[in-house]
Amino acid sequence: MKTLRARMLYPCSSPPVEDGMVCIESGVIRSWGRWDGRPAEDLGEVVLIPGLINAHCHLDYSVMRGAILPNASFSQWIRRINDLKRTLDDDDYLESIAAGFRELLAHGTTSVFNIESFPELMVRMPAPPVRTWWFYEMMDVRNRTHTEDVVAGALSFFEERKGWLGGFALSPHAPYTTSPDLYRLARFCCEKYGMPLMTHLAESDEEFEMFRYAGGPLHSFLASLGRNMSDTGIGSPVASLLSADALPDGSLLTHMNFLEEGDWDLLRGRRFSIIHCPCCHEYFGRGPFPLERFLREGFNVCLGTDSLASNRELNMFAEMQCAARRHPEVAPETLLEMATLNPAKAIGMGGKLGEITEAAEADLIAVPYAGPAENLHEAILTHSGAVDWVMVGGKQVFSDSVFRKIGQRPLSLKTEH
Ligand SMILES: [Zn+2]
Repeated sequence: MKTLRARMLYPCSSPPVEDGMVCIESGVIRSWGRWDGRPAEDLGEVVLIPGLINAHCHLDYSVMRGAILPNASFSQWIRRINDLKRTLDDDDYLESIAAGFRELLAHGTTSVFNIESFPELMVRMPAPPVRTWWFYEMMDVRNRTHTEDVVAGALSFFEERKGWLGGFALSPHAPYTTSPDLYRLARFCCEKYGMPLMTHLAESDEEFEMFRYAGGPLHSFLASLGRNMSDTGIGSPVASLLSADALPDGSLLTHMNFLEEGDWDLLRGRRFSIIHCPCCHEYFGRGPFPLERFLREGFNVCLGTDSLASNRELNMFAEMQCAARRHPEVAPETLLEMATLNPAKAIGMGGKLGEITEAAEADLIAVPYAGPAENLHEAILTHSGAVDWVMVGGKQVFSDSVFRKIGQRPLSLKTEH
């Protein structure tokens, strides 16, 4: 049994405890509360909180920081990322993923929901240093074929990986790249194997225009690729996807920026989790996000970074700070829940992740703190710089030691100017 002591403990699911302790055995929290005088490793003037959970990321693209101009239109952005992808090989992607893990850890993220476009790369990877849910990306706009056998094979490959923390899941990409049939296959597999499903939905005005009015630049671009456009001009992106019976209850819906009034009625009661990526939202210069309404209507709202192709860093503190700036009326503790408790619930890990509680995984971070308890949430939320003390599954992890053996080759992409 290992005991940690800290000036303050903030479990996220219960009130803060001054001079707190957490007792850990076999990677799991056995007990916690006020320090009772037992021998302990004293972390000093810090607040110990659950490790942060990034609910939406594409580690494949960590190498693309600064490579696409922030004000690119959505279809320009897609064209540019496709061009960049063609210049990278497997080793580049492996280094990109490793660099992403280093950055997540450096900012106190201990779990990530990662959309993986190249699951075949997992064969060459050592055990990730961060608890990772690998969301296998599915799309068929360019005739890539997926079957239940392929999904089952990928799942069993993941399950055989010794020491890999996290899980396997599916991510049909978005309604403009993924056919209703492929969504329904993903839904069938998720229900059969008990996996979470995440998709991008209602992200851009161009996606809205394409589905609602069968027009706009994304419509022309995809039509030029030979996509069957007969599903456009009927309803909003949300209405189209829900009418195709493509999503199981509880799916993780990323972005949800462009909704019309009728969409709210369709969404209500379906226990969907909503993933908001505040810095990416700002990167694309989008208008107000209906965060307050999603909260008021009882949706499980989570935060994510999205990828470095549309963000400057993989830093959940920066995401919470950006959300706090744009939504000053949302309480800091609510924003913290969106990076801890809520994403854990979204993938069926409530009580196991994202909180300090008995029988939860010992995923913890220490944030410098010396002030009075009244300012605690604020002090956590406004933390800047690296998080020096990070624990995943009861073991302390150091970001600069991650995957050095893979990251031999310095990577750089030309910035678009
Ligand atoms: Zn994304």
